[in-house]
Formats: sequence, C-alpha cells, structure tokens
Amino acid sequence: MNFSDSEIVASILSNEYTITDDPKSADLILLNTCSIRDHAEQRVFKRLSELNTLRKKNNQLQIGLIGCMAERIKDELFTKGNVDLVVGPDAYRDLPAILKKESPTNINVLLSEVETYDDISPIRYDSNGISAFISIMRGCNNFCAYCVVPYTRGRERSRNWQTIVHEAQKLFDNGYKEVTLLGQNVNSYLYGNMNFAKLIESVAKINPLLRVRFATSHPKDLSDELLEVMATYPNICKSIHLPAQSGSDNMLKAMNRKYTRQWYLDRIKSIRNYMPDCGISTDMIAGFCGETQADHEQSLSLMESVGYDYAYMFKYSMREGTAAHKNMEDNIDEMTKTARLEEIIALQQESSHKSNLKDIGKTFEVLVEGISKRSEDFLFGRNSQNKVVVFPKGMYKKGDYVQVKITSCTSATLKGETVNNN
Ligand code: SAH
Ligand code: SF4
Repeated sequence: MNFSDSEIVASILSNEYTITDDPKSADLILLNTCSIRDHAEQRVFKRLSELNTLRKKNNQLQIGLIGCMAERIKDELFTKGNVDLVVGPDAYRDLPAILKKESPTNINVLLSEVETYDDISPIRYDSNGISAFISIMRGCNNFCAYCVVPYTRGRERSRNWQTIVHEAQKLFDNGYKEVTLLGQNVNSYLYGNMNFAKLIESVAKINPLLRVRFATSHPKDLSDELLEVMATYPNICKSIHLPAQSGSDNMLKAMNRKYTRQWYLDRIKSIRNYMPDCGISTDMIAGFCGETQADHEQSLSLMESVGYDYAYMFKYSMREGTAAHKNMEDNIDEMTKTARLEEIIALQQESSHKSNLKDIGKTFEVLVEGISKRSEDFLFGRNSQNKVVVFPKGMYKKGDYVQVKITSCTSATLKGETVNNN
C-alpha cells in the first residue's frame, strides 16, 4: 500500500521535483512509513538518523515523514525524528504547498472520509514495467483489536470504479501485463452498485493477456460471487491471501475478527470447490493478549489443515490506541511469543516445501518479471498461484508468458524448464 502511495506522492510532486535514486543528491527525502508493529517504527527512526547525517553536506536538504507514523506520532516527530515536515496518508495533495511554505504549517495529518486520489495518475518510478499496483480503496472499518490501521488510515472509502478500469487499461496499453488491486479489505469494495466481484470482472475483461491479482481479503467478506468470477476468468490469478491471524475461536473473538475457525475453514473449502488449484496464503499473529498454549496449538492445527502455500508471521506488538491496548493486557512474555512464532514459522516452511514438491512435474504459465538474482542465465517470474518460478533464459524476455515444467524446488522457489513455447 505504501509502495502504491509513494507512486501517488511522486505524481503530486512531479511539477516541482524530479526523482533520484541517490539520497546524497536529493534536496527532498520523503520517508513513507508504516506503524503496524513497533519494529517497523524503530526501523524508520534508525533510517531517519542515517538520513539526517546528509544535512551536513547539503544544508538545503528537506526531510519529510509521510504515511502512518505521521498520523500516529504527529508533531512529536519534529523533535524525535528531526524532520522538516509531517504529512499523513490523506493529505498528500497538500505537499506542494507545504514544501513551498505556502501552507500555514508544516504538518497536515487530517484524515478524510472521501479522499481516494482517484484523479491522480501514479508515477511508476520503481516499476519493472510489467506489474503494477492499483489502489482501489483506502482506510479500514474493521477495527481488529490489535490493529492500528483504522486509526492511521481512517474510514474505509472506495474509489470510483471507472478511474480504476481506466488506469488498468492505460497500464495495459503501456505494456504492463499484470495489475494488483489493492485495499485493506478489497472484498468490501463498494462504489454505487459496483462490488468487488463486479469490479475485478471489469478489469479482467480489458484483455485476456492482462493478469489481475488482489490483496487483501478479509475472511468474513469473501463471497462465493467473487470465487465464481475468479474461476471464470483465466487471467484472474488463482491466488488468495486470506489472513486467519489465529486458529482459536477464543483468540478470534478477542481479536474482533468477526468469524470463527469453522467459518474460516468453510471459506477455504469453498475456494477449493471453485478453484482446486488456487494458491492460499495467510497472516498469523503469535502471542496475542491472553493466548494460551491451547490457543497456540489451535493456530498450528489450522495451519496444518489448510496447508498454506506461504504466510507472513508476526509476534504480537501492542499498539497504542487500539481496543487491545485499552481493554486487554499484553501478557504473553517475549520468550513465549518468540518460541510460538518460531514453531509457526517452522511449520509453515514445511508446508511451503510440501506445496512446492507437489508442483514438480506440473506445467505452469509464468509471466516473466526479470533476470534471476542468482544467475544471469536464468529468468524469474510468477505462476498464477503467485509462486516464484526460475528457469533458463533461452530467448525469452521480461513480459513474456512462458510455459514452464517444474523439475525441482526449494521451500521458497520452483525451478523448471520451458516447454511447448512457440
Ligand atoms: N488488512 C489486512 C492486514 C493489514 S496489516 C487484513 O486484515 O488482512 C498486515 C498484517 O499485520 C495483519 O494481517 C496482521 O497479521 C499483522 N498485524 C497487524 N497488527 C499487528 C500487531 N499489532 N502486532 C502484530 N502483527 C500485527
Ligand atoms: Fe487491520 Fe483488521 Fe483492518 Fe486488516 S481488517 S487493516 S487487520 S483492522
């Protein structure tokens, strides 16, 4: 989401600034920040202290902090982070005025109920030219007890669907082959009577050679209507990120996730009914307030029974202002959190490896994204299930669709040979 927001910010500032890759030659550095866990914020403070040393060489340098930390920490950042300006996720249109000192202050952290930046054409300055993000909604109304997002990004609002389809069409016309529709909970997208299932269908219809992905879906809102549309269009990728967070009903309730373990497993069953080959991934939190050993084991058993292809796994980090912060105690000690997280990670590694082993012998269509990091003689891309596939370069290039037969794997990557490509 921040990657996508930075492209919007680049567009808003494109009349006044050009982009450089080199911080040393920059007159303006904006750090787009995340508040989701304390660790993310600590990394930003470290980066800020590094960047501040550049002021010695360039006394014109302005350093600004944008994104969720701006919203959460506000004007304290001027002293804590030694920044010149602080701008929250809904105030990016104000950046040019703040930078030109035409604004009365150098901080704007107002949240909006309507801002979607729908008329702004993002500048894809850090793109591979093949794959792009399109933000389709902003904010979140779910208020999971542990999560700071509803406070830092404000209320949920959906972007005008015509501007989304237009942006996807324009990307395709410019040679892009894949778009990822982004939102904190894309399943609750609603603009007039356009829901997410209808929106993704409209994007898929642009061209069969344009792949469509999305992130993220909340299990409570994953509809069969969407699964049916996904199954109908080969260019909608067969991959769903469906964060469970926990496998224990007690924890799901405390987290205010609004579904039960059984509901979640039913949704998985439905995904597999519509798309037996669909890739499924999750987010898991270890050591949420009051989590018992039995709750933790329920998380492990949920992971085991779903058999996720991959997962993002985190230690619980208490965030100020959330319901958990107000009403619960962060009472799982650090050692237990770490031990549980390690168990979760070990199980997932096994599961990812198993899932990859099952793919050996299968042939996938891979969209080539570039040269493999390990060797110039190999390309890498993704299959529909969002797995990274590496194969010998041959005559192929970035942006090609290539049929690849899988011959070996690690827990992170599939390797194969090209077949039947004319
Ligand atoms: N909107 C998405 C998630 C966005 S945050 C969704 O609901 O699926 C990304 C992930 O960060 C969450 O899924 C959760 O696993 C993790 N996360 C959020 N708040 C956290 C916290 N306080 N401590 C640890 N992990 C957290
Ligand atoms: Fe946070 Fe829950 Fe909203 Fe996701 S759905 S952003 S976890 S509050």
